[in-house]
Amino acid sequence: MSADTLLDHLENVKRTGDGRWLARCPAHADRRASLAVRELSSGVILAHCFAGCSIAEVVGAVGLDMSALFPEKINADGTKPERRPFPAADVLRAVSFETMIVAIAAADMAAGKTIKPVDLKRLRIAARRLLTAAEAFQ
Ligand SMILES: [Zn+2]
Repeated sequence: MSADTLLDHLENVKRTGDGRWLARCPAHADRRASLAVRELSSGVILAHCFAGCSIAEVVGAVGLDMSALFPEKINADGTKPERRPFPAADVLRAVSFETMIVAIAAADMAAGKTIKPVDLKRLRIAARRLLTAAEAFQ
């Protein structure tokens, strides 16, 4: 995948150089562009939030997973290689983050607040990511 896959999901994207951008971080209430994105010549995408969000939180906040940061590899015979499972610690971190999103929504609902459509959409992403995490170890 190219940097566009991630950049398309970000706000206030500003190109700062060849293969370099700044944007609002989707993982926290970012008032300025705290997220630096860089595309290496190898096709690998680097992202760094200066406020301290993890890369898993950044890509998770826009509904992508870590594979969006790596170029798609093709085997010599033209087939796609078998997907390697993510390290258990990374999956656990992602599950923790998605669980917090669900917990916050549950607390809002318990307090009688109405869930906004954008939050409902994010909850569906959380549900999908939690199911995917469970399948990673089957
Ligand atoms: Zn951030």
